[in-house]
Amino acid sequence: MNPANLDVIDPTAMGAIRVGVLAMQGAFREHIRAFEELGASARPVRTPDDLASVDGVVLPGGESTTMDKLTRKFGLQEPLRRRIEADMPVLATCAGVILLARELRDGLPDQQTLGLLPIAVRRNAYGRQPESFECELDIAGLDEPFHAVFIRAPVIEEIDAGVEVMATYGGAPVAIQSGQVMGLAFHPELTRDRRLHQLFLDTVSARSHRAAQSSGA
Ligand code: GLN
Repeated sequence: MNPANLDVIDPTAMGAIRVGVLAMQGAFREHIRAFEELGASARPVRTPDDLASVDGVVLPGGESTTMDKLTRKFGLQEPLRRRIEADMPVLATCAGVILLARELRDGLPDQQTLGLLPIAVRRNAYGRQPESFECELDIAGLDEPFHAVFIRAPVIEEIDAGVEVMATYGGAPVAIQSGQVMGLAFHPELTRDRRLHQLFLDTVSARSHRAAQSSGA
């Protein structure tokens, strides 16, 4: 009601964007730090209530089999699926891409995925090459190359039409965009370069802004 306070509640202001990072296991602290450096508020997501309080979520790298088990154990699998189906922006990195994929190859027999990203991935498929490596990637939307760190990364073997390839390595997509989901086979949180985190914040901010407008806020 008070126009003087509008900037305080502006959902597009960086400080007002609430980003969650799935914190079951893996590299979640590094993502939280990256967003805080950019002036956004980031918090760990461990419960359905945590998830309900954020505008966008990061599915970090780590061990997808463990993350899958814990996500189910903590009752987060269905809430995550529902929010992402309802258009919540997602930044999925490495094991996070596995968690989201529609088809998983070389997963454990009881391993589940959310099945929401229309791609097929193979776990640990850089195995015969050095398992972990770094390279410079040209990524759509970034002016300068990005130094990418791959750690036992999955290979994205198939993508549906409609999935945008932002970068490739060795002929396979390693950065993709599908609707409001950005999927990276590498670990952007392990370098000092925050451009991909900023890109994700821009997506979250644009969506929050649109939601606020359509609700008349
Ligand atoms: N190899 C891991 C898995 O299959 C992914 C590795 C990572 O996230 N850096 O879950």
